[in-house]
Amino acid sequence: DAVVHWMRMADLRVVDNRALSQASKRAREVDVPLIVLFVISPQDYVAHDRGPRKIDFVLRNLKAIKAGANEGRSLKELNIPLYVTTHSPRRTLPTGVINILKQWNVKEIYANVEYEVDELRRDIKILELAKQEDIKCTLVHDKLLVEPGTLFTQQGKPFSVFSPFHRRWIEALNKNLHWIAEAPMPTPNDCEIHSHSSYADLFNQEVPDEVEGFQCEDREKMKVIWPEGHSAATGMLERFLRTKSRASQLGAANPLEEGAESSAKASRALAYKDKRDQADRDTTSRLSPYLSAGVISCREVVRAAMDLLKIKGVESSRDTGVGMWVQELAWRDFYTHVMCAWPRVSMGRPYQEKFADVKWEVNEVHFNAWKEGKTGVPIVDAAMRQLNTMGWMHNRSRMIVAMYLTKDLMLDWRLGERYFSKALIDADLASNNGGWQWSAGTGTDPQPYFRIFNPYNQSEKADPTGNYIREFVPELGGLRGPDLHKPSAKVAQKLGYPLPLVDHSEARNRALRRYKNPGTE
Ligand code: FAD
Repeated sequence: DAVVHWMRMADLRVVDNRALSQASKRAREVDVPLIVLFVISPQDYVAHDRGPRKIDFVLRNLKAIKAGANEGRSLKELNIPLYVTTHSPRRTLPTGVINILKQWNVKEIYANVEYEVDELRRDIKILELAKQEDIKCTLVHDKLLVEPGTLFTQQGKPFSVFSPFHRRWIEALNKNLHWIAEAPMPTPNDCEIHSHSSYADLFNQEVPDEVEGFQCEDREKMKVIWPEGHSAATGMLERFLRTKSRASQLGAANPLEEGAESSAKASRALAYKDKRDQADRDTTSRLSPYLSAGVISCREVVRAAMDLLKIKGVESSRDTGVGMWVQELAWRDFYTHVMCAWPRVSMGRPYQEKFADVKWEVNEVHFNAWKEGKTGVPIVDAAMRQLNTMGWMHNRSRMIVAMYLTKDLMLDWRLGERYFSKALIDADLASNNGGWQWSAGTGTDPQPYFRIFNPYNQSEKADPTGNYIREFVPELGGLRGPDLHKPSAKVAQKLGYPLPLVDHSEARNRALRRYKNPGTE
């Protein structure tokens, strides 16, 4: 007999993992071994536009969880086996998992909920099959600070507007501080795990280096910028809470090897309110790859932020750096709540259905120029090249390039969403979709579609020093002042830099016409 924790792509950690913690407690109670299972499903990765960087990050973290020497925080140190298997086709995955459980004679299985539609359907199927086999399944809420389905408007509806959601969210957290409590660590497997012949082999099994079809070309670089493991994540958290931001080398360096810049008074966290929108400084936490893959729990990062302020509750004021940062974590919760309440958003449909018929341009040349960072608009190109080099992009830059694709180039937001999903190391369906629909004006945002960024004005605000453009668009490395943000045709030609694909004010008018009368032009 054994108890199984089925680890998924968004809870890749041993510390503060609710389902794993419960599974371990149960195994101890009934005095049977605990086994951790991970199922690679390449067809799901194709269907869900997963990218090689994300898949590689998952495998690297699995290796760290399985065998990394990590102050008692790897499964090996706890004598818990991790079994990684690959399953295809995705349709039969539930049966495949049940067969594994039967082979191990498992009577109980625990997993954290994945809220995307296909994953929920898969879990419903598992529950049905498990019942037939008399296997007890426990699904646990773990991804968010406040679980979906708990916050409602005064009319008893799910929130579709962020600000009132945020107020209720803070209030609910402060009333229920146990929601951010740490889930106890799993205890070492002290049962005679080796006595069952098929369990013993599990310790010798290796986590694969790659998944076929998802070879990560720039793996070595990704390993430097985004090292795997819980201790790398806590290092990143410490960097945010206790060290100052830097102005240069935005993309190349390992953020964890920055040298001594510690500052209790002006750390990134404390300066976050004023500095967070600056793409030319490394001012944000860069925790998104770790949070989206669950390498660190959202509860752990909130607890650490509150420790910094030495307060018990969750900071609610948007006037402080930490309060503003906590608000970003509320956005993370919000978009998953929206996806759960209106699952159509995760199936390629706009939240505001009236925009389903907006007429989009079909223009491969423009789309390719956007992807490659060759649109002739320096801030857009710098941002896209940051994504292509780092697998990550600053939040303000994401908004600028998404707005540019949908409103200036008038290309379908779903093209951009998919490209992001494949290129980002922090890809998360709900946040990515929420960000794209916000920018396209089709989402929950109460601001109407006619908010259209002027990329040149945005550029001056997001990159006041010009360091961002100069770092990622080296052709423009010698430019200073307004020319850098909007090079004249003469300067651009001389430097071999492309001319803008469209004229911003003409494009703006086209977007306004098309959004005003969807389906007519
Ligand atoms: P910080 O500023 O330090 O914020 C802390 C954490 O809060 C982040 O790590 C993230 O988990 C969360 N967060 C911050 N801003 C947002 C936001 N606007 N929406 C949701 N969560 C947020 N974030 C992803 O994690 N995955 C995505 O696939 C993703 N796609 C996006 C696409 C678009 C078009 C846009 C506009 C935004 C997207 N975001 C996405 C949100 C945001 O850009 C990133 O979370 C943020 O830039 C990550 O950097 P950081 O960790 O330094 O953030």
